[in-house]
Amino acid sequence: MLNELDGHTILIGLMAYPIRHSMSPTMHNHAFHKLGLNYAYLAFEIDNEKLPGAIDAIRTLDMRGSNISMPNKQKVIPYLDKLDPATEMIGAVNTVVNDNGVLTGYTTDGIGFMKSLDVDGINIRGQKMVLAGAGGAATAIAVQAALDGVKEMSIFNRDDEFWESAKHNVEIINEKTDCHATLHRLEDQEDFKSEIDSAFIYCDATSVGMNPLQDQTLVTDPSWFRKDLVVYDTVYAPRTTKLMEVAEEAGVEHVYNGLGMMIYQGAAAFKLWTGEDMPVDYISEVIF
Ligand code: NAD
Repeated sequence: MLNELDGHTILIGLMAYPIRHSMSPTMHNHAFHKLGLNYAYLAFEIDNEKLPGAIDAIRTLDMRGSNISMPNKQKVIPYLDKLDPATEMIGAVNTVVNDNGVLTGYTTDGIGFMKSLDVDGINIRGQKMVLAGAGGAATAIAVQAALDGVKEMSIFNRDDEFWESAKHNVEIINEKTDCHATLHRLEDQEDFKSEIDSAFIYCDATSVGMNPLQDQTLVTDPSWFRKDLVVYDTVYAPRTTKLMEVAEEAGVEHVYNGLGMMIYQGAAAFKLWTGEDMPVDYISEVIF
């Protein structure tokens, strides 16, 4: 037990299924302890069926809020009172904040992505990004990066069940932001290479590189990468992915895994609940 819990302890949840593997409870409880905040963060196994009752419980138990993960990120929306504007565009929620019974939904994954670059002095605003993927992580990254000022975005996806989502992401970005987004098929390797050639950052937000695809990468040829390209893999387990190995072989200076995104999405949620900055250096040291 990290904190001394008492009658005043404020509860924050994590509602998903499966969820026992999550690092979020450890991360948040260490941060509460470090800052002397009287909060506790607990994981609850909540599937779609249990979701309405669980969201009701946030109000009933006067919880400060909750993280929401799969399979509830989209399903939760009808049970909330409000969505912040970026989250409305993304169409998925990973953080709920309870203000005296009024529940607002946020998505902090894209904020975490941008922040992880900012803290390393990498500014992608005004630049071109090539983004592979159109699932949950990719959508949050695409929308946040476009809202934050990325000038041009080439979105690649294979022709699978996420193709419609890729189309939708391009449409909504062009409609609602100043970013110019275009849609590309991952199967067109010539186009993929040529778009990466003219990009400032290449970000892979697909499941490739993560278990069970940990031996794969969408870019296998180091000659596709310039040394001054920023290469970002959203995967954080393993810490060094195949994509990162290819980038390192190419001599790319700025190569990232998804750990920074993971920590800073948590830090953004932490700030929404507590008003305090998560002690990220401490958390990185203790947990990762
Ligand atoms: P998702 O299932 O919502 O989306 C999967 C995406 O990967 C889709 O675009 C799909 O078309 C693509 N894809 C799947 N298999 C592919 C293949 N063989 N070749 C090409 N494309 C393929 O998943 P998600 O939740 O968005 O997760 C995507 C990635 O983002 C994962 O690697 C996950 O580790 C990472 N992620 C990182 C963080 C973080 O905080 N760092 C948070 C969430 C997700």
